[in-house]
Amino acid sequence: MIKPIGHDNTLKTLEKIAISKKIPHSYIFSGIEGIGKKLAALYFGKILNCEEKESIPCNSCYSCKKIDKNIHPDILILDTEKKQITIEMIREIITFAQTNPFEGKYKVAIINDAHKLNQFASNALLKTIEEPYSSTIFILITHSLNRVLPTIQSRCIKISFSPLDNEKIKEILLQEGYDIEKIEEIIEFTDGSVLQAKNLLKEDVFNDITNMKDFLTHLKTKNFIDINNFCEEISKKNREELFFSLIIKNFYNKIHKNANNPNFDTLNKYQKTINFHRNLRYNINKAFLLETLLLTLQK
Ligand SMILES: [Zn+2]
Repeated sequence: MIKPIGHDNTLKTLEKIAISKKIPHSYIFSGIEGIGKKLAALYFGKILNCEEKESIPCNSCYSCKKIDKNIHPDILILDTEKKQITIEMIREIITFAQTNPFEGKYKVAIINDAHKLNQFASNALLKTIEEPYSSTIFILITHSLNRVLPTIQSRCIKISFSPLDNEKIKEILLQEGYDIEKIEEIIEFTDGSVLQAKNLLKEDVFNDITNMKDFLTHLKTKNFIDINNFCEEISKKNREELFFSLIIKNFYNKIHKNANNPNFDTLNKYQKTINFHRNLRYNINKAFLLETLLLTLQK
């Protein structure tokens, strides 16, 4: 990781903080999942500990290299698949935070999914960040800021991360070796998240997207049984939301292209799709809802 892609202004803020005289001890990085918050936290850890440079990491010193390899003893990441972060889990971080760095300038404690902190863990952490050890930095990461205890929030510098634009997502995926043609097929549906993009690029999801697009293109030629089977299949796989995004995006693009000469049939169908989508979550029989929509759009 030379530098995380995107979030230029946010990273600049971190670079400025790193060279300020009094560096605050606690931060909350918030924003949707899969946009690089953890990478930014590591980047900040790198700046703080770099042996060569002050405001940006040199990427070649001993410390920078160790952080890249995830083996720096002064960087600790708490990351769990479990539903809650318990007091036992937070204790490890607290113990880590209460001593001098082993070899760097700062210890950096990163708590991923900080909204998972339960009440006891939150209170224990609160005490620690209220009286921080002079050379320890806490970075809490969350995609659900409102679920983090307000008292914790009030002790932290809040840094919010926006969804990434499509070009940045493309850049990241290309760098990771994904195929450009496949990227182009899904880029409109990523909602600004690399994680979402990678989910869409998984083989089974990707194939379903291709099939859905194909079905929509040839909707006029499909009979009732085709439509019925197709909707049952989508519903079985829980791909209703994805299918709706495809249809909505499709209309959106058509409307955008002919903005000066609007086609009222298209506008009407677009509006109907939005209404159907709104009803999706209240509808028990989702396949039937989809089917009714497709039959309406077919006309
Ligand atoms: Zn360095």
